[in-house]
Amino acid sequence: MKEFEYNVLASRVIFGSGSVKKLPAEMERLHVSRPLLLSTPGKSNFTNQLSDIIQAASIPMAGTFPHAKAHTPTSVTEEATAFLDSVAADCVVSIGGGSVIGLGKAVSIRTGVPHISIPTTYSGSEMTPILGETHNGNKTTRSDPKILPAVVIYDADFTMTLPPAICSTSGINAIAHAIEALYAKNANPITSMLALEGIKALAEALPQIVHNPGSKAPREEALYGAWLCGTVLGSSSMGLHHKLCHVLGGSFALSHAETHTIVLPHALSYNAPAIPEQMAKLASVFPGSNGDALHGLELLLQELRVPRALKDLGMEEGDVDKATEIATGNQYPNPRPLEKEWIHELLRRAWAGETAK
Ligand code: NAD
Repeated sequence: MKEFEYNVLASRVIFGSGSVKKLPAEMERLHVSRPLLLSTPGKSNFTNQLSDIIQAASIPMAGTFPHAKAHTPTSVTEEATAFLDSVAADCVVSIGGGSVIGLGKAVSIRTGVPHISIPTTYSGSEMTPILGETHNGNKTTRSDPKILPAVVIYDADFTMTLPPAICSTSGINAIAHAIEALYAKNANPITSMLALEGIKALAEALPQIVHNPGSKAPREEALYGAWLCGTVLGSSSMGLHHKLCHVLGGSFALSHAETHTIVLPHALSYNAPAIPEQMAKLASVFPGSNGDALHGLELLLQELRVPRALKDLGMEEGDVDKATEIATGNQYPNPRPLEKEWIHELLRRAWAGETAK
C-alpha cells in the first residue's frame, strides 16, 4: 500500500427520516437559543416546519431570511449579516440546496455564529470547508475548517419534493465529486472507500427515484450517497472535471448540476487511459457496467434522461474555444496531462451532446 495522509474533518452528522425534530436538542448542545433560518426564495414550506419545531420546544425564533441566491453573492451575505445583528440571532440554520448552504457558511464565517445545515439536495456543500462567493461578478473560493457547518441534519423527508429531474442532475453532480476523489493527488484508501460507497448508493437510488418519485427508501439512499460524496469532496483535491465545470459555470453562467452531469462522461473518458485501477473499481459500483465504468455511467445517464448537451444550457459554439483557453491556461493536478487539442475536442463533444469518446 502507498503512503498516504488523511485529515478527518470535524463534523457532526444526524441522519434519518424525521431527524429534523432533533434540531432543538442540537441547538442546546451548541448553547444557542435564537436561530435565524435561511432559505432560498419560495421555500416557506421548509422554514415554517422548522419554525414550528423550534417554537414547540419553547425556543424564541430570531427570524427568517429567505433570500439566498446561487453563487453566494456578497451583497446578499451582507444583507443577511445585518439582519442577523438586528434580530440578535446567535446561530444560523440553513435549509435547502448548495445555494443556501453557501449563505450559511458565509454568514457563519463572518460572524462566528454556529451553522446548522439541513441539506435538501445532493450538492454535498454541507460536508466541505469550502466557500465560493461572488462579488461584482467575480467568483472567489476559499477553504477554512471553520467554514464547515457545526451540525448537519440529513432528513430525507425534506428531499421528497425535489423533482426527479433535479435529483438526477444533483445526484450525478455528487457522483462527480466521488469519481474525482478516486484519482485525486491526495486519494487514500479511506476516501476511495467512501467514494465508491457513495457512488454505489446514488447509482442504485437515482433510477428508482425517477421511476417512483414518491418512495422514501431511494430518497434516503440517495441522501446517504450524497453525504459520502460530499465528504470526499471536502477532503480531496479535484481535477479536470471540476476545473471544466468551474470554468463553464463561472465564465458562461451555466447551471451548476446540469453542467456537471453533461461534462462528467467526457472528463472521465479523457482520464480513463491514465487510471485503469480506478476504472475497474468504478465499474464494480455501476449496475450493468459489465466491467466498463464508462458504459455503466452512460447507461445510468440514459436511464435518468438527463440533459446531455451544453448548447441546450445556452452555451454558444464559439465559447468552446474560450473555455478551452481558460481551462488549459495553467496546469493543475490531473491523472492525464492537459492536452489542449483534446480538451477542445472534449468540450466540443459536450457542447454538441455527442457521446463521450
Ligand atoms: P440550489 O441550492 O440552487 O437549489 C436548486 C433549486 O432547488 C433551488 O431553487 C431550490 O430552492 C430548490 N430546492 C432545493 N431543495 C429542494 C427540495 N427538496 N424540493 C424542491 N426544491 C428544492 O442548487 P444545488 O445544486 O443544491 O447547489 C448549487 C450551488 O452549490 C452552486 O452555487 C455551487 O457552487 C454550490 N456548491 C458548493 C459546494 C462547496 O463545497 N462549497 C459544493 C457543491 C455545490
